Amino acid sequence: MIEFEEEVSFEVDELVFDEIVEDDEVSSVELGGGERSAFSTDVPLLLRIAGSNRTAPATGIVRTLGMGYRIGRGVMTLLGSVVLAALFLPIPLMHLAGIPIVLAGVFFATRRVRSAKVLRSARGTCPSCGEDTSCFVGFGGTPYKLPLKTSCTHCARSLVLEER
Ligand SMILES: [Zn+2]
Repeated sequence: MIEFEEEVSFEVDELVFDEIVEDDEVSSVELGGGERSAFSTDVPLLLRIAGSNRTAPATGIVRTLGMGYRIGRGVMTLLGSVVLAALFLPIPLMHLAGIPIVLAGVFFATRRVRSAKVLRSARGTCPSCGEDTSCFVGFGGTPYKLPLKTSCTHCARSLVLEER
């Protein structure tokens, strides 16, 4: 029961965080970039069926984040988790959920400050079913590190994103 609630909380944290990033994105453009800025580049990738030689071309969108931008993201993540934990405090028993929430906040915040490159999205042809698929690559804060496990949204086959 408690475990389930924790999972839900993490998801909420990620979603709240994503909204904050979208806002930040706009303001960094208005400021004219620099260290606070973030920009996206298309990267040619390969989709491989896990444990097989069959591959198909894919394209990933990688965002390069400036240090100021990353610190901003980290601080917002940490604040988000503290606020979320505070919301659970008045609820008997559920107040214990605050500890893992804040720990998760510290984990995600650290990861975000350290991630100069994140994989925003990836799409390509599924090497299994041949459909055009957009791969799930996390909630936008996933560090860009290949190979990355994903799956096809059509046939649910386990796929691996690799460098082309
Ligand atoms: Zn497929």
